[in-house]
Amino acid sequence: MNGTAHVAIGAAAGFIVANNYQSSPATTLLLVGIGGISGLIPDLDIDGKLRNKITLSHKVIQSAALLIGMLMIVYSIYEGIAANRYLGIGIGLAMIIGSSFIKQRHMLTITGIGVLVSGISHQEMWLLLLGVYILIASFVAHRSYTHSILGVIFYGIIVSKLEVSLGIEGIFYTGLTGYISHLVADSKLLPFNKRGIKLFLPISSKEM
Ligand SMILES: [Zn+2]
Repeated sequence: MNGTAHVAIGAAAGFIVANNYQSSPATTLLLVGIGGISGLIPDLDIDGKLRNKITLSHKVIQSAALLIGMLMIVYSIYEGIAANRYLGIGIGLAMIIGSSFIKQRHMLTITGIGVLVSGISHQEMWLLLLGVYILIASFVAHRSYTHSILGVIFYGIIVSKLEVSLGIEGIFYTGLTGYISHLVADSKLLPFNKRGIKLFLPISSKEM
């Protein structure tokens, strides 16, 4: 399944959750966005060992860095305090500019470190954990740990912290549903998927 399909399914999941919570139009838009991003997150591991075999990887990584850079700027403007705000904006800008220049495989690792540092400077646990997630995803093989139950739990913790931090109901369920929708779409539950996902890593590497 390609990136666009994953985003669409994740966004639809966000829309459904928003409806269940009877969210305002603005919150609905936010949840649709979080759902779409969550639907793409597991494939951040595309920078891993199979990177060279996947022609899209390059663009996915570039877009991810660009997106995270922009989010970081927006977030810093709204939430940052004094020096932290400018540090966050600076890192975000550097990532946006860097994403168009640096194209080699370490981009995602650099992105992870950037997000991690930003999480520490903002004292935001979800951002710190997202940085750790991206960092790990940049080293593991494609369709391995990010496509497992362990990945779901880790991401669930990230979005639960994000929900508490923003104080907006529905973020946790939207993020979790978007993420799980990606795993279902990649699994052998769909007959046209020849390769499945290693759901039970590290206990079993059987493809589901
Ligand atoms: Zn995938």
